[in-house]
Amino acid sequence: MIDPSCIRADFPILDRQINGRPLVFLDSAASSQKPVQVLDALTRIYRDSYANVHRGAYTLSQESTEAYEEARRKVARFLNAGTDEEIVFTRSATAAMNLFAYGWGLNTLKPGDRVMTSVMEHHANIVPWHIVARHTGAELVYLDLTDDFRIDLDSLGDRLDERVKIVALSGMSNVLGTMPPIGAIASVAHEVGAVVLVDGAQLVPHSPVDVRTLGADFLAFSGHKMLGPTGIGVLWGRRELLEEMEPAEGGGEMIRDVRLFESTWAPVPHKFEAGTPPFVEAIALGAAVDYLSELGMGNVLEHDRRLTAYALKRLAEIPDLSIQGPSDITDRGGTISFHIPGIHAHDIATILDEQGVAVRAGHHCAKPLMRHLGLTATARASFYVYNVEQEVDALVEALAEARRLFGLS
Ligand code: PMP
Repeated sequence: MIDPSCIRADFPILDRQINGRPLVFLDSAASSQKPVQVLDALTRIYRDSYANVHRGAYTLSQESTEAYEEARRKVARFLNAGTDEEIVFTRSATAAMNLFAYGWGLNTLKPGDRVMTSVMEHHANIVPWHIVARHTGAELVYLDLTDDFRIDLDSLGDRLDERVKIVALSGMSNVLGTMPPIGAIASVAHEVGAVVLVDGAQLVPHSPVDVRTLGADFLAFSGHKMLGPTGIGVLWGRRELLEEMEPAEGGGEMIRDVRLFESTWAPVPHKFEAGTPPFVEAIALGAAVDYLSELGMGNVLEHDRRLTAYALKRLAEIPDLSIQGPSDITDRGGTISFHIPGIHAHDIATILDEQGVAVRAGHHCAKPLMRHLGLTATARASFYVYNVEQEVDALVEALAEARRLFGLS
């Protein structure tokens, strides 16, 4: 079980006051805060052991190369990957999904082929497919949502056939918190021969993920939402598929040989890591993975669920407030989007900030979902390992204040 009161001491930023009030940080779905262990890893490498990786015969370069490859091994263990070669470091989840879209999609799709995704996706799992569709003549097909904000499995049955070559689906919605049954969806997708990508940007920070049982063929996520720094992401792929996949970027470090008119590629994962990789960020992500592993991802999920259940109960006390997301906590994460008729989400976020409460407001990079919900914006509170029930109470009090200011109570 997680004891956030101990954990909070590791996060110096949580001591801040905002507008004269203690910071209540409820925006970890956008980016999490960082513990001293990660901050120390960043400064340690820059201060004591910094040199470019994979290039030098000298000690410092060997040290940073070893630390970079050790970070790859840590991420592989964290995901229970078959080998550390299945871990490709990228700049972000967005870059990881773009790598898959261009490396796999651009090179395999033909006119009439289909990419299946869902209405609740983040733009990072929609826009690359628009680009791929434009280049290949493939089409997009969308899974619908049910009235209780889940993936409509009837629409999967109706639309999944051999034309679908790729199924690209979020493991946890950054707006609704919905966690679709990835294993079940992947197994029917595999029956028609589709390759399955999971957008794990929200899933991996908040839930145990074992890539050997997840059912997916590829998984993308970012370091900065799981206590790590910005500028680092991961694409995990099944070894044999990574071998088949073409690189999407060319440059230094990703080659076996370069001649005037042709080049050959380095083995996986290096053929996907052109140029100087974000190795300092990867090493610090390794420290974040150590931190989360020590807590235990099962405990992280349980903590999020307990806080989410408490928040859903408390938010239900606010008249007119509607939650955009499943009410049952068993298949949802700790991201709660809500709407109060008569107060724009941006006004909610501004008034909450005056009370020290940080929430996000807007379309959350999910415009098709917002249109589907009939809204232009929601306010969103999201939790992580350092949040406590008193912060949910502060959110509820600040929302009551917002309603008073707008003459709603
Ligand atoms: N997918 C989801 C579900 C997300 O929540 C996010 C980040 N908001 C992304 C993809 C993109 O992540 P990043 O901005 O770190 O590339």
